[in-house]
Amino acid sequence: MGNKEQHFFSRIEGKRDELVALTRDLIRIPTLNPPGEFYRDICEYLDRRLSACGFQTKLIRASGTPGDCEKYPRWNILARREGAREGECVHFNSHIDVVTIGQGWTRDPFGGELVDGKIYGRGACDMKGGLATSIIAVEAFLEVWPDFSGAIEISGTADEETGGFGGVAYLSEQGYFSPKRVQHVIIPEPLHKDRVCLGHRGVFWAEIKTRGRIAHGSMPFLGDCAVRHMGAVMAEMEASLYPALAAKRTDMPVIPEGARQSTMNINSIHGGQAEPEAGFTGLPSPVVPDHCKMIVDRRFLMEENIEDVEAELRGVLDKVQAKRENFRYDFTPIHSVNPSMTAKDAPVVTTVAAAIEAVLDKKAEYVVSPGTYDQKHIDRIGRMKNCIAYGPGILDLAHQPDEYIVVDDMIASAKVMGLALAELLTGPSPQN
Ligand SMILES: [Zn+2]
Repeated sequence: MGNKEQHFFSRIEGKRDELVALTRDLIRIPTLNPPGEFYRDICEYLDRRLSACGFQTKLIRASGTPGDCEKYPRWNILARREGAREGECVHFNSHIDVVTIGQGWTRDPFGGELVDGKIYGRGACDMKGGLATSIIAVEAFLEVWPDFSGAIEISGTADEETGGFGGVAYLSEQGYFSPKRVQHVIIPEPLHKDRVCLGHRGVFWAEIKTRGRIAHGSMPFLGDCAVRHMGAVMAEMEASLYPALAAKRTDMPVIPEGARQSTMNINSIHGGQAEPEAGFTGLPSPVVPDHCKMIVDRRFLMEENIEDVEAELRGVLDKVQAKRENFRYDFTPIHSVNPSMTAKDAPVVTTVAAAIEAVLDKKAEYVVSPGTYDQKHIDRIGRMKNCIAYGPGILDLAHQPDEYIVVDDMIASAKVMGLALAELLTGPSPQN
């Protein structure tokens, strides 16, 4: 390790208090999504911070995207700093939204409390801690390597938790994520300081409806129960589909281990009459349900394709139809995302892996996320294959009560990020 790298590491350590303060400030802006609150506020905060260290900034509203309205506009910030000469651009992308608080907190969810080296709050780990880490890493990098080549970009984007349409998808459609202007993308999602996340599994959501006929509940034989038909669908899923999914193993290094196969969640079932309004004290009326609806959430692998996933589900329904009288169904795909996996020898992967090894003195672990994140849009719309998720934080804590981030982990990740910048933007062997 050269002198400049050592100097850079001590700069990062010297910025510990600043890193804590920045993380706490970000947590204290309660950017809850849905509905999408305070996006403008957090973008203005980031604008002030990044403008102060030489970034050109743009606040971009994703007008007309899902959820965007006058009350809850979808604001994003894109900041770019040019280097001393031509070169490649490294982009750090973080989402600025957080999910609902939920029950069970013992800390103030928007207080940013610092206790025993951990900062608590909604979004601490997913992913305001990662955003703060990338900003501190870049600021320290600029102090040590002011004459770098190429460019650095930092974006804070909306709506990742609800699909990313008003965030990274929109910016990709507008051409901001394209191989022409950005060459390396690092998304500081909380996959942990020693892991390079190459991508994610695919998603296929569908709505299954069974139909019946309404009748008096005392004479169900005069009607046709749509809920019993759905019961037959579930029995068939248990008998043939779930064992088949469990048998489909993948070479993708998905974490946790349980997700290293095809999976399917039954997201919801609704059948028969609607639930009464809260406070209604009467009884339900006796009727045979004439409709039942199920939403399934199937997660699939690089080794599968969407057409086969869909055909497999339709096959379950056809099997039930073949052996069950009066079985009628509708099947409607409602959402899908292809799996994404960056090659292990892609430059951003090898660079960050080497930086992890240098900082933590251990080999980087390569992982794939069980669920999707904004890489899907960068891959599919932006057509960029040189993208990873890398950031501090324990993935299991995301969306949980008492979510926190460990300050030491942020410090370690900031060193990794800065070292990766040095490698990518100051030549193959940084000048010492
Ligand atoms: Zn996240």
